Formats: sequence, structure tokens, C-alpha cells
Amino acid sequence: ASLFVDGDPPMSRSHDLFQAAQRHIPGGVNSPVRAFRGVGGDPVFFDSASGAYAIDADGKRYVDYVGSWGPMILGHAHPQVIAAVQERIQKGLSFGAPTELETTMADRVCELVPSMDMVRMVSSGTEATMSALRLARGYTGRDKVIKFEGCYHGHVDSLLVKAGSGALTLGEPSSPGVPAALAELTITLAYNDLEQVRETFAEIGSEIACIIVEPVAGNMNCIPPVPGFLEGLREICDQYGTVLIFDEVMTGFRVSRGGAQELFGVTPDLTALGKVIGGGMPVGAFGGKREIMSRISPLGPVYQAGTLSGNPIAMAAGLKTLELLSEPGFYDRLSATTAQLLAGLQARADAAGIPFSTNQAGGMFGLFFTGEKVTNYEQATTCNQDQFKTFFHAMLERGVYLAPSAFEAGFVSMAHGEAEIQATLDAAEESFALIAR
Ligand code: PLP
Repeated sequence: ASLFVDGDPPMSRSHDLFQAAQRHIPGGVNSPVRAFRGVGGDPVFFDSASGAYAIDADGKRYVDYVGSWGPMILGHAHPQVIAAVQERIQKGLSFGAPTELETTMADRVCELVPSMDMVRMVSSGTEATMSALRLARGYTGRDKVIKFEGCYHGHVDSLLVKAGSGALTLGEPSSPGVPAALAELTITLAYNDLEQVRETFAEIGSEIACIIVEPVAGNMNCIPPVPGFLEGLREICDQYGTVLIFDEVMTGFRVSRGGAQELFGVTPDLTALGKVIGGGMPVGAFGGKREIMSRISPLGPVYQAGTLSGNPIAMAAGLKTLELLSEPGFYDRLSATTAQLLAGLQARADAAGIPFSTNQAGGMFGLFFTGEKVTNYEQATTCNQDQFKTFFHAMLERGVYLAPSAFEAGFVSMAHGEAEIQATLDAAEESFALIAR
């Protein structure tokens, strides 16, 4: 059966642009998920975006639930963010020398995320997690790291590793180009399974430099931690002198102002940030306890650097974003809008008789084509993919842009209001009916 309601996909400017893109760009995209391999068809090429809407190369408007994969929490092209960038850009694009803006940013981040005594700015989430990992290894003098299946931490060699066949077997590279010798140092355990973590530490706890975890998983769709999971990781790390790293690249300033660590009341040693902190510009950051951060060069021996780190234009966009999300009631409203969207979708799926469930943490959400509550990777991978693909394309056709993969979280912005939610639910009613047919 065709994924498209009326048969063949319409010919579009996006189609032509995608053809042209493939000539000199691998797969036509600069990041693989954009190629729509997870849903089929041509990716939509965007031309502009404003508020809750993104406008494609043909001028068609979509309610956008991707939000550049998380950063656009205020909505697209927020006038105050654009003005801050425009003002700053007049003064030059980059100096490679310190600016006052960087101190303002560091002070602000450490105020919003109290577990961070010190912070270093970088240019992407990948750089943030990569640097945090190196720092944890340098600080502890240990080489092994633990990550969880289904968590994504950027394309860091040590973290592009899948589980071996048992909890304690050596990690295997999940991409050619990652040396097996390096992958062996990465142990991949099941998310939300504390017992497995305990067993692993009982055997080799003193060799483990760090645990890195998405405190709400957002890269196997959206899966919050089960009660006790994050608390247990904290306890185990304390017991074994292991560094606990929260990868809050997605959850930071997204699930609550102080991130998942504030929402769940668990304090990591190091935190990686990205996405929202740059307000749509290329920014990441890592930071944490002063004792650990003091090991970073030039204070300490662990090397880390960046030509464009702390870029003034990026700092201006990020600072204005952090200022606006600090307004009272921001997260209450964001969470309420997200909850309203999910309740509406659930009701329409139920009415159509489609097994469906949702997850939510603040302004991020997951949609699952299964009747079960999803709490782990295996469940996420066994949802009905065909139904998701049909739903995705039906929604796209009706002007709703969802993440083009069943394994990505969705994002609501402060620009999403009653009109956008209602339009989304109307489209969903028709789309679920299409699946039920
Ligand atoms: N960590 C998490 C939790 C992420 O979701 C991502 C990106 O989606 C990254 C790290 C990598 O960030 P970037 O794509 O900016 O390198």
C-alpha cells in the first residue's frame, strides 16, 4: 500500500532540491536522519520558519514538532533572539580571544544548573559529551565507560558502541571506523535496569571511569527514567568513585529550567549541554564539580580546546534564549501544552481503535504505536513501524511536521498555542482513521 493518501507523492521543489543535493552531499544531507530513510519519500527542504511553523521550499506551512531537534524552545525566529544576534553581529563574528559574553553565559548556566560549578563552552553536543568523557577518564585514571542501549550521545567514537551478547561482554563498534580496541572499553547496559548496573560494578566497578546517561532518553523515542534508576546510578557511582555524567544535551532547559537533574532531584558530577543553550546556533557545553573541572587545560592536564568555542554570536543567541525561558510560568505552560497535545492524540487513537501510547517529560514527548507504556529500548523497537510511517506521511500531508523517525523524541515550543494544537489534533484524527482503514 502506498504511504501517500492519494497515491504517488506530489512532485515538489523539495524533490528537485533533494536530487541536486545528492550530487555533492553524501545522501543529500549533512546529518543522516534528515534523509527520511526512517519513513521513506523525499525529505522536506525548508526555506524559513517562524514561531510554531516551518515553511518549505514550495511555500507550504507545517506545524513543526522537530524544532531543529530541540533548540527552538521559544519557537522559530523569536524576535528578541533575532534582535540580539543582529546587534551582536555588527561587532564582528569571532575573535578567538575571551569576551565578556562568555563569562555572562558561564555565570548564567551555573546559576540555572546548580550542580555545575564551572563550565566550558564548545560548538556541539558531540563535543560536549566527548570532552566530558575524556575528562572523566583523565580525572579517575580509569579507561572503561558505561553507557545504555538506545541512548545517543553524539558521534563520539567511544559512544558509538553497541552491547555484546551479555552484560559483561566486550562492546562492539556500531560503526566501521571505530577501533575495536576502543569499543572494548565501552560497556553497554539496558536502560532503566539498575540490577544490571549493580552486577557490572560488583565485578569491575573499580575500573569504570564514568557512567554516561540521558536522564530522559530522547534518542529511542522518548523514555523517562523509572523511579529509582537515576538515584541508583548516583549511589553506585559514589560507592565506586565513578564519575556520573548526565547527557542533558536534549533535556537541558527542556524538561525543566534546571534540566532533568532538577526534575528528578538527582545531582550528576558532570553535565553535557547543547541544543537549547545555543538558541539555534552551534553550541554545546560541559561542566560540573569544580574539583573535576579543574583538571581541564589550562588549569589541569586534560586537553580540550576550540577555535570557535564561546563564539560571540552564538553566546548572544543562547543568552537571550536563557533569559526568556527564565520567565515565571514558562515550564508550566510548556508542559501543559505538551500534555494537552498528548491527551488529544491518545483520545483520537483510542477512538480509531489504534493501539497507541505516549511519554512526556516537560516539553519533550514520544509517540508509540503500541498499547503498552514504553520504558525500555526493546519495547521502543517493537512498536508498529508501518503504522508510524503511515501516520507520519498522513500528518505531513496535512501540514504537521513530526520527526521523520520512530526513534526520535518530539518537541513543543512556547509558540505552540491552542490553534496549533487543534490543527494537529484535526490532522491526527484523519491520520489515525487512515491507519484503521
Ligand atoms: N547527546 C544527546 C542526548 C543528543 O540528543 C545529541 C543530539 O541529538 C547529542 C548528544 C549530540 O549533539 P550534536 O548533534 O549537537 O553533536
